[in-house]
Amino acid sequence: MKCWFSCSSPLARTELMRSRHLLATVIAVLFASGSAAAMDIVATTEDLASLAREIGGDRVAVEAIARGYQDPHFVEPKPSFILKLMRADLLIVVGRDLESGWLPALVQQSRNARIQPGARGYLDASLTARILEIPTGTITRAMGDVHALGNPHYWLEPGNGRRIAQAILKALAEHQPGDAEYFNARYLDFDRRLSEAERRWDAIMAPYKGTKIVTYHRSWPNFAERFGLVVVGYVEPRPGIPPSPAHTVELIQEMRRQEVKIILVDPYFDLRLPEAIGRQAGARVLVLSPSVGGASDATDYFKLLDHNLLALASAIGQTRAPGHHPEGPGDHHHK
Ligand SMILES: [Zn+2]
Repeated sequence: MKCWFSCSSPLARTELMRSRHLLATVIAVLFASGSAAAMDIVATTEDLASLAREIGGDRVAVEAIARGYQDPHFVEPKPSFILKLMRADLLIVVGRDLESGWLPALVQQSRNARIQPGARGYLDASLTARILEIPTGTITRAMGDVHALGNPHYWLEPGNGRRIAQAILKALAEHQPGDAEYFNARYLDFDRRLSEAERRWDAIMAPYKGTKIVTYHRSWPNFAERFGLVVVGYVEPRPGIPPSPAHTVELIQEMRRQEVKIILVDPYFDLRLPEAIGRQAGARVLVLSPSVGGASDATDYFKLLDHNLLALASAIGQTRAPGHHPEGPGDHHHK
C-alpha cells in the first residue's frame, strides 16, 4: 500500500493497479457466490413470513415460528424455535409487545448476535407501520392489558402490508446488496398485485360499509377501519383479559340496542361464550383468521384477506337477507 504513494516507477504503478483490479474481481466473485447461498430469515408469524417470501423469492429461505391458528400473544416455546433462530441472518418481528411473552428468551438463548434487538438482523415491522390504539394515558400493562404499546394486529390492513413489505425490502437489500435489484423488482410486482387486490376487496365490501360488528379480541381495528366496519364492542373487557359476567351482560344490551348481527372470533378462542352472546343478542358468530395459515385456504397474505373478506361479506349479506333468523339452521357453528 505504501508503494502506491512512494513508488515513482510508472511500471510498478501499473502492476499495482492490475493486482488491485484482480483483488476487486476476486472479492466480487466471492460476494456473488455468497449471495447464491440463501439468506436465512425467521419471521415470528406466518403473515410476516409470507411478506418476506414475496420480496425475497428464491434468494432467501423463510421460516415462521408461530402458526397462524395459534394466538400470537401466547406461543409455547419449543427447542426447535431456538435452532431456527441460531441459523437466522434476519429476524422479523411484529413488535408492539405482541411476542414479548415468549420471544425475548428464545432470542437470548439462540446466542445469535446477528438477530439480537438493536442488531442489523433484527427487524421490528411495527416501526414503519400505521399503529392504532396507542395508549395516551397510563400504560395499562399492569392491569394485564396485552396491547400496552398500541394495537399489534396491524398487518390485517393492506396499506400496512405494503409498509411491512417496504421495510423487508430495505433490510434484504442491505443484507444482500448483490440481489437488491431482484428484491426491488419483486417488491414492485407485489405492490402492483396488492393495488389490484385492494380494488377487488373494496368492491366486495362496498355494499357493507358502516356494518356494526363485535369482535372477541381487539384483533381487527386496522382491518375494520380500512373496510368501513364499525366495531361497537368486544367480548374481552380489555385485550387479554377474560370475559366477565358483568361485561357480557352490558355487551349483549349494547348489541341489541345497536342491532349488531356479527361477532368476529379468532380461531383460537372458545366459541361457547360468543355463541351464547349471539343467541341472546340475535347475532351470528363468524370465525375469521387473523393470520396466514389460520384457515386452510389462507395460504398467503393475499389469500388471507380474500378468505376473510369473502366470508365476512357473505355473512353480512345473509344477516340482511329477508326472513333471516340468526338462530336458524343455516347458521354457522351450530352445535
Ligand atoms: Zn392482541
